Amino acid sequence: MTFEQQIKEIVGDKGLITDPQDMQGYLSEWRDKYTGKARLVALPKTTDEVSAIVRLCAQTETPIVPQGGNTSLVGGSIPFDSGNEVILSLRRMNTVRDVDVKGGTLTIDAGCILADLQTLADDHGFMFPLRIGSEGSCQIGGNISTNAGGVQVLHYGNTRDQVLGLEVVLPDGEIWDGLTNLRKNNTGYDLKQLFIGGEGTLGIITAAVVKIYPKPKYQQVALVAIPDVEAAINFLGLARQLSGDQVTAIELIPRIAIDLVVKNVPNFSDPMPQKYDWHILVELSSSVTENLSTLLEEILEQGFEKEIVLDAIIPASDAQQQKLWSLREEISGAQKPEGGSIKHDISVPIARIADFIQQADTALQKIIPGFRPVTFGHIGDGNLHYNPLQPEGMDKQAFLDNWETVSRTVHDIAHSMRGSMSAEHGIGRMKKNDLPLYKSEVEIDLMHRIKDALDPQNIMNPGKLLPDRK
Ligand SMILES: Cc1cc2nc3c(=O)[nH]c(=O)nc-3n(C[C@H](O)[C@H](O)[C@H](O)COP(=O)(O)OP(=O)(O)OC[C@H]3O[C@@H](n4cnc5c(N)ncnc54)[C@H](O)[C@@H]3O)c2cc1C
Repeated sequence: MTFEQQIKEIVGDKGLITDPQDMQGYLSEWRDKYTGKARLVALPKTTDEVSAIVRLCAQTETPIVPQGGNTSLVGGSIPFDSGNEVILSLRRMNTVRDVDVKGGTLTIDAGCILADLQTLADDHGFMFPLRIGSEGSCQIGGNISTNAGGVQVLHYGNTRDQVLGLEVVLPDGEIWDGLTNLRKNNTGYDLKQLFIGGEGTLGIITAAVVKIYPKPKYQQVALVAIPDVEAAINFLGLARQLSGDQVTAIELIPRIAIDLVVKNVPNFSDPMPQKYDWHILVELSSSVTENLSTLLEEILEQGFEKEIVLDAIIPASDAQQQKLWSLREEISGAQKPEGGSIKHDISVPIARIADFIQQADTALQKIIPGFRPVTFGHIGDGNLHYNPLQPEGMDKQAFLDNWETVSRTVHDIAHSMRGSMSAEHGIGRMKKNDLPLYKSEVEIDLMHRIKDALDPQNIMNPGKLLPDRK
């Protein structure tokens, strides 16, 4: 039997794609930055099927690319050009195994779409706090493999903080059942942590136990115009103190981001009558403080007195609040029609954010005079999407040719502040060879040793995350 026939034996007709045309959606990604070729796409329905596929791949030394919702922004889910790799898509593994309302957990297959899990939690009077722009497509297995962040990390933590247990198919096909819902368990190495953020290089996550939280009864957002970036940090401190730490999100939004959304996305208008350079979108949540808008007004009033607030709007309806969140979520897409954009996803200590922006803007103006800085994101976590956009009228490719120089400059500045070159999106193909610039030899060596121990044949997402060996 051929390899393809053996895979078909395992997954059936519906679980196999070999036609190059039908594979297309699995071979390129959201930004069109990476494309590749694959031998086939396998779509198993159960953990046993995943295990059988991985066993076969181990026997034949066939490399595997685990793929979730394929929303990776670093090329982690895309195969290389060899055409040898098998894409193992978790798309058909989307069963809810258990909802435990007493213990506050969900046990779900890795292929469940994030937005569906949010709805599931909501249906049971709970909430699942991971909120990211790709939530309609990305899968919980992908979120765990990238330790995804998002807008509520400030209050609830990263994906890592939501995971209690995992089920993983290891690179030899063995199944590790670590599906515990225990909140305390000190019995040695916490093995699940290796796979969280492991970007599919150590095994395939097939199921997880995640925490759900009591749903806040009340939620209120405000769009606040501020004089400068430093004011955003000061506002966060003030809001946390006055609200008893009820700030669940705070996002930095520059003037240009609002202008791009209004220009390039239908049905948006400028939310404020007057134009300001910097804004924050702040959200308070509570189940005890009913009148959050009054609390927000008090915070804003003190903000005015301290000259860290210039103007604000507090939407009256849920629909208006949602519109402000949509404005924030549309920023990424609104840059696309403007040409080339060089994306960064850095983090620095919160106190250094304004300094970082100032240093990076100054350095980049010297490299590409007239570039347009689109700098936004999760300021409460020190995480910025620092996305220089090409100068108006410049040739897109000529701008993008500067990618390496620009990124190196931006990452060096973040690193000089003991920051990170990847706060959320991970390493994938895009940043793997930059890792040695920013991690010690000891760390890189430890990573290689863990990979060698778990995947000695190097078949699990090879060429991703780990830098090439010297
Ligand atoms: C519009 C947009 C907005 C975004 N916003 C955010 C944001 O706010 N915060 C954030 O953190 N990210 C964000 N992202 C990036 C991306 O959505 C996240 O990294 C997400 O967690 C990836 O999930 P996925 O299911 O699409 O995984 P994929 O893209 O399919 O895969 C990502 C990586 O995980 C591996 N993988 C996938 N599933 C498994 C599995 N079951 N077992 C083992 N390995 C697996 C893949 O091999 C790959 O290396 C955004 C992306 C887009 C397009």
